[in-house]
Amino acid sequence: MSEKIQAPRGTFDVLPADEAGRSRLLQAGAVLFERAGYGRIETPIFEDTALFARGVGEATDIVSKEMFTFEDRGGRSVTLRPEGTASICRAYVEHGMHKLAQPVKLWYIGPYFRYEAPQAGRYRQFTQIGAEAMGSDSPLVDAEIIGILGDLLAELGVPAVSLRLGSLGSPEARTDYREELKAYLRANESDLSKEVALRIEANPLRAFDAADPGTREVMQNAPTLLERLDGEDAEHFAEVHQLLDAAGVEYEIDPTLVRGLDYYTRTIFEFHCEELGAQSQLGGGGRYDRLVAELGGPETPGVGFAAGVERILLSLGGEPPVPARDAFVAAADDGQRHRASALVAELRNAGLSAETDLAGRSLKGQLKHADRIGARVAIILDADGSAQVRDMSTGEQQPIDPAEVAGKIAPDPEP
Ligand code: AMP
Repeated sequence: MSEKIQAPRGTFDVLPADEAGRSRLLQAGAVLFERAGYGRIETPIFEDTALFARGVGEATDIVSKEMFTFEDRGGRSVTLRPEGTASICRAYVEHGMHKLAQPVKLWYIGPYFRYEAPQAGRYRQFTQIGAEAMGSDSPLVDAEIIGILGDLLAELGVPAVSLRLGSLGSPEARTDYREELKAYLRANESDLSKEVALRIEANPLRAFDAADPGTREVMQNAPTLLERLDGEDAEHFAEVHQLLDAAGVEYEIDPTLVRGLDYYTRTIFEFHCEELGAQSQLGGGGRYDRLVAELGGPETPGVGFAAGVERILLSLGGEPPVPARDAFVAAADDGQRHRASALVAELRNAGLSAETDLAGRSLKGQLKHADRIGARVAIILDADGSAQVRDMSTGEQQPIDPAEVAGKIAPDPEP
């Protein structure tokens, strides 16, 4: 026998049983986004490598260690997209969206790729659902974006959700602060993990994210960027709080919050599920007021979020619900199988979900299968041309006119 080929490490198949939860999430998201005036956008799954190198930042973990980058047959360097914001900003510039009424509000869902060490909740191909609002620097948009992700998690019933909020200020304030932080890290270098110590110059902010006890202790007394925000940035941040307070959104200000992407300015946030363990971050985002200009477009502020679909589904746990069927059409003997097939087609055309036996089961086996697939009723076609309807929950059976099945078994319209 040939050797079996398996799905690549860190990837997974989405089987029909997993699909119900994913569809529910997609539908809930679509409703919330459309209500708030966000239009759906789809961008290519691979892009010019330079887009992410420039947009996300060369020094980030994502770009330096986690990208699936390869040369295509024409010798161009392309990369499977590791995140959505850079691509959407590219599309904004490419399609001249700055000429539209601002802000331009977009949402998306699709697969993303990062070469990470796989574990529960962390994959090499995963799905993100997200939104971006480009063309306004108003704190109203920050609050709207945060509110939509909060509403989506609430609508889905995600338990133990917490929101962490921070601000990175302007790139200028950040440059001054980075120098101050680097000096602090150098002064405490012997207590830092080797990885953090090696990256003091390239990415000092990541020290706040480190897990090792030595670095964590040093970081407890580190100066924070929140204490160094300038007037306008501090005001912007204060207004975001006021708006969230007014909307009744609960949050915790986290002065040590940093995100793994370079493009953020001002507001940053993360939603966590405290029941998820190590990979507790459900989604996050923030403002990126310089990114569009960095990608060759006009100065355009923006704010957005991305949430991990698989993480959200993990947080919901439990067995996926079995999708119910309206009817199962059973043939009392083999002579009725063509009739059953015709009736199933008629019921489906009438908008009902219906199935019949495709595996040569006995009548008893067919009724057992009807039960297994969650059929509300079974229609049993008898050899003499008559039919009976069986209520699958009570087992009650009565005659039914075969010509009137579709009309008689239609479920009551929902109140
Ligand atoms: P990020 O773009 O890093 O801010 O990620 C946004 C969200 O995507 C995270 O909060 C996770 O829920 C999800 N996510 C990021 N990386 C992965 C991964 N490797 N596997 C599964 N989900 C991920």
